[in-house]
Amino acid sequence: MRVLLLYPLFPKTFWSYEKVLELINRQVLLPPLGLVTVAAILPQEWEFKLVDRNVRSVTESEWEWADLVILSAMIVQKDDLLYLIREAKGRGKPVAVGGPYATSVPEPPREAGADYLILDEGEITLPMFVEALRRGDRGGTFRAESKPDVTGTPVPRFDLLEMNAYDSMSVQFSRGCPFQCEFCDIIILYGRKPRTKTPQQLLAELEYLRQLGWKGAIFMVDDNFIGNKRNVKLLLKELKVWQAQHQYPFNFTTEASVDLAQDRELMDLMVECNFKSVFLGIETPDEASLTLTKKFQNTRDSLAESVEEIVRSGMRVMAGFIIGFDGETKGAGDRIVRFVEQTAIPAAMLGMLQAFPHTALWDRVEKEGRLLSKESLGNAQGGLMNFIPTRPVEDIAREYIEAFCALYDAESYLDRTYRHFLMMGAPKCHPPAKFISLVDLRALMIIIWRQGIKRKSRWKFWHHLYSILKHNPGVWQHYLTTCAHNEHFLEYRQIVRDEISAQLAEFLAAKKVVEVEMQVEAIAS
Ligand code: SF4
Repeated sequence: MRVLLLYPLFPKTFWSYEKVLELINRQVLLPPLGLVTVAAILPQEWEFKLVDRNVRSVTESEWEWADLVILSAMIVQKDDLLYLIREAKGRGKPVAVGGPYATSVPEPPREAGADYLILDEGEITLPMFVEALRRGDRGGTFRAESKPDVTGTPVPRFDLLEMNAYDSMSVQFSRGCPFQCEFCDIIILYGRKPRTKTPQQLLAELEYLRQLGWKGAIFMVDDNFIGNKRNVKLLLKELKVWQAQHQYPFNFTTEASVDLAQDRELMDLMVECNFKSVFLGIETPDEASLTLTKKFQNTRDSLAESVEEIVRSGMRVMAGFIIGFDGETKGAGDRIVRFVEQTAIPAAMLGMLQAFPHTALWDRVEKEGRLLSKESLGNAQGGLMNFIPTRPVEDIAREYIEAFCALYDAESYLDRTYRHFLMMGAPKCHPPAKFISLVDLRALMIIIWRQGIKRKSRWKFWHHLYSILKHNPGVWQHYLTTCAHNEHFLEYRQIVRDEISAQLAEFLAAKKVVEVEMQVEAIAS
């Protein structure tokens, strides 16, 4: 069996970092970990080719070669997913679709012509699919009644990736999260009992990446890396030894809940393993909104102190913020900007609240007749909300645009980044010094040209760099890389402005339709 694995295009998002990738001669931030895991679970006597459409297009000879096409996508990739299904069917190929989007909303892939829907987690449903193919079934939907134990998940087929196209590689240690945030689809897809791999399993994945020649950044794509603190510490204790034995070939980034700040041992272990950055879901400094959205873990301790604690331990903090919660009062955007300035977080991802299919939020707003679109776009795309909020959407949209533009003003960003790195704990592990590559040298020259010569903020750039070199010299490279990230955000500001303004008109029209429907219903009853 010859299997063509396809990963659909992402739209331009906050996370796409095009300008930064250009600098370092890479095309995409992260590879499709789900598809290389699928390839590892399927029978190994099958042949595989993988095309990430974010890297390049599928060639005619690849289409011809394939006996079967398998696709996986997230909600934001849905347009290209549906296009690729139709392309494959137009060429007479059997098509199987899996991944988070099809699992949440199976109808559109089915209507586009997918023959097989391999839903939920592949460790359970891929063997069902293989069995169906062996029986000669021409189609089917495969669902899992339970969540699989991931200790049996094989090492992903990283060898199928065009590795040079990516900024970072991804690995996953755990699935699921113990918390209960109302808007979160992770707990719907993967459950509230975090399931982890064994330390040996994860080290085998890292060893495989090392043997394939990968060096540098690894994104631990767990939704909450510290969901099972006991198991993550067991991993980190072994990872620390492995990293030292191999002279720190990798540095890590991950996502974690804010309660990380309350566990000194955990933070120290992460830093000793060369974790450089961590993404925190802060969402909002408004306690009433956090309580309403059931993000109770963010109300227990001071959020500002937690951020500071993590930065002082030696990790850069990135954070996610949301605007548009029910009951939110005027000025939520400003309060977020003030919080980000106070805590000196360089990269703050700001999105508008979205109701993702089958989440508690989705069920609630649907019951209240406030859902506008059955297909959430996902707030990573910077879209307007997909339900009617409790305050005027025009206010939320305006505050969102103003807050985004304020956050990524060139000078404010430089100042925050400077304060962040001044506060940061010194690195605890020391990879051997290496010669700067030509690509890195070119990137450095471009950063210096743009930020140190061309921009009005050039004096600040040089002052801050000098001060970092003087007071916290161990972080200067990390500091400069973070400064370079604003190249992307500066450009993204205009995209946010244009897209939100265009979507606002659409939103108001859809809202009118829902209101008329509700009036008709009220009259009829
Ligand atoms: S902490 Fe993050 S992953 Fe966990 S339920 Fe909340 S939003 Fe979801």
